[in-house]
Amino acid sequence: MAKTDYYELLEVSRTATETELKSAFRKLAMKHHPDKNPGDKQAEAKFKELNEAYQVLSDGQKRAAYDRFGHAAFENGGGGGPGFGNDFASSMADIFEDLFGDFSSRGGRQQPNGRERGSDLRYNLEITLEEAYAGKTATLKVPTSIACEACSGTGAKPGSKAKQCPTCGGYGRVRASQGFFSIERTCPNCQGRGEVIEDPCRSCNGAGRVTRERTLSVNIPAGVEDGTRIRLANEGEAGLRGGPNGDLYIFLSLKAHPFLQRDGADLFCRVPVSMVTAALGGEISVPVLDGEECSVKVPEGTQTGKQIRIRSRGMPILRSRDHGDLYIQVVVETPQKLSGRQRELLREFERESSKDTQPESASFFAKVRDFFGGSAE
Ligand SMILES: [Zn+2]
Ligand SMILES: [Zn+2]
Repeated sequence: MAKTDYYELLEVSRTATETELKSAFRKLAMKHHPDKNPGDKQAEAKFKELNEAYQVLSDGQKRAAYDRFGHAAFENGGGGGPGFGNDFASSMADIFEDLFGDFSSRGGRQQPNGRERGSDLRYNLEITLEEAYAGKTATLKVPTSIACEACSGTGAKPGSKAKQCPTCGGYGRVRASQGFFSIERTCPNCQGRGEVIEDPCRSCNGAGRVTRERTLSVNIPAGVEDGTRIRLANEGEAGLRGGPNGDLYIFLSLKAHPFLQRDGADLFCRVPVSMVTAALGGEISVPVLDGEECSVKVPEGTQTGKQIRIRSRGMPILRSRDHGDLYIQVVVETPQKLSGRQRELLREFERESSKDTQPESASFFAKVRDFFGGSAE
């Protein structure tokens, strides 16, 4: 049985905003809620459908896929494959944490002796679908502050040492009495470091770090998803006064491909097929990401919207040797700018057409007749 269009179900237009969707869903869900319609199986089914429709349309990514592929977008993901689930994004994070290792928690930012963990850095990296397909080693130039080499990050002139702060005695915090209360706050003399530099390092003016551009090489595994975050431990800003470095986060985004759409590991491609090939059957050549062309058989009598699945020609699946599938979506092209002879041939063809050659029109117009016939009674 054909599924009802999600937009129709929610009684909104295809351009409905998030707010419109939400209020439409709320109104309809209220009306068809099983609690309000006890024992009504139809209402229950409708309520389920509404829920499903809202879940898809309220998620930007799922909605885009639905707009493009209709219900097919969610039917061919197959059992167990990494589909749209949000869980997938979080499992990706784990994968990268495994890859880049060492994520023991560091505790608070401010450490004893005023050591401070460096800031985390964010690097936005855009890659093409082909690069996500093949995987790549990306070279990044990251401007970042690193520990000053001259003073090994202490900020004190080489050969000299930071002295214990006389105000707080190295504690980093001072106590002040206010009435009955004793309040502790950061030492104003050393800003909580517990020590003061009397003889600052000349290379870094006592900061303990200098700005450099570093070149990093990052392995982008084949099959990465848009929105993946790669964490490179300790590659962020240098810590202060010997504190640990921050981390570098690489945020991956995928460029839109001119003719391929991706859903998890599956790829979709709309391919125009001539009216004649669709009617008589034939072979078409479709592009695949591994660079080769792939020949696909179009069966006789193919209609627009038919989906042809080509196994294992989709995106690679992370941590496996498997690939998703490539789906060819046939669009039968109506010919234009016909010559006189072509028109003649088509008219002749039309004269020989029957219910058998146009089964879809025949059944549609039969339904229309039934509908008007039935409603007249
Ligand atoms: Zn220095
Ligand atoms: Zn102090």
